[in-house]
Amino acid sequence: MEKIIDMRSDTVTKPSEEMRRAMMDAPVGDDVYGDDPTVNRLEEMTAELLGFEAALFAPSGTQANLVGILSHCGRGDEYLVGQQAHTYRYEGGGAAVFGSVQPQPIEFEPDSTLDLAKVAEKIKPDDFHFARTRLLCLENTQNGKCLPLSYLAEARQFAHSHNLALHLDGARLLNAAVKQQVPPTRITRHFDSVSLCLSKGLGAPVGSLLCGTGVFIDEARKWRKMAGGGMRQAGILAAAGIYALENNVERLSEDHDNAKRLSDGLRTFDELTVDGDPQTNMVFVKIARERGDNLANFLSDRNILVTPGETVRLVTHLGIDGQDIDRFLETVSSFFTSC
Ligand SMILES: *Cc1c(COP(=O)(O)O)cnc(C)c1O
Repeated sequence: MEKIIDMRSDTVTKPSEEMRRAMMDAPVGDDVYGDDPTVNRLEEMTAELLGFEAALFAPSGTQANLVGILSHCGRGDEYLVGQQAHTYRYEGGGAAVFGSVQPQPIEFEPDSTLDLAKVAEKIKPDDFHFARTRLLCLENTQNGKCLPLSYLAEARQFAHSHNLALHLDGARLLNAAVKQQVPPTRITRHFDSVSLCLSKGLGAPVGSLLCGTGVFIDEARKWRKMAGGGMRQAGILAAAGIYALENNVERLSEDHDNAKRLSDGLRTFDELTVDGDPQTNMVFVKIARERGDNLANFLSDRNILVTPGETVRLVTHLGIDGQDIDRFLETVSSFFTSC
């Protein structure tokens, strides 16, 4: 059967044979008792990689961010967050629902930073009329864009001077580190807490980590238990994460190269507008609405999956190689010549 090229997301990656073997061979124990050696190893490894005292393994990035926000903020507190940020828009309002924490969304700038002057305007005065502003959340990468290192230093300074904690939704943080050719700690050292997804481009089936101080992670562990994230022989899953961190980080640059090749190819079609040069593994393409739906159907009939829309997000990952990019471009070309 012809290979299915799935460009909808890097969450569609499947564990390789070697990763599955590592999962099968993992020593396990009851992680709620702290007894799972593989989970413990993954948590220690990640804390060290990102330069924190401690880390906590969670079943999803949504839960890692949720327990992070709930560990920083209490009932009646507020967090500042990007309007299109995952921690505001795509997590079901969890911080408000479970923690009575109010989000204050702010528009992203075109480079995916939050303008700190605009953020400052949203910080509430110390007055009984207002929620207590406690936390600033950033996202890196955001829509495939890397936050500039100089901006992270400014954000740290800003958070410090306004008495805010600083959290990074670093679902794809290692894409940024690989792209910027820096150790991940050059990014994470500016933050009080960081979440990282194993189940995106790193290719693990499940899992995210939250990092912070020991005290912070103790608090997060309690929230994780309440959220139903205390898992038992979770070493089976953690083993995939260890494999991913040991084998699938440097190769993210291949995904970035493939995204560049894809974007260069798509730029040659007059019917498409490609949004800038991709920095990491995402390409955004604009197409007239109806044409876009037809294109998505045409592609899907040929075993190529994309999410239809006026702006189509195409994501490269370890399930896609250079040949797949060529097949994708040829198929788009035959759509525009025949339809
Ligand atoms: C995927 C993602 C998450 C976590 O999502 P889960 O599906 O819950 O793992 C968080 N932030 C960003 C930016 C993401 O892309």
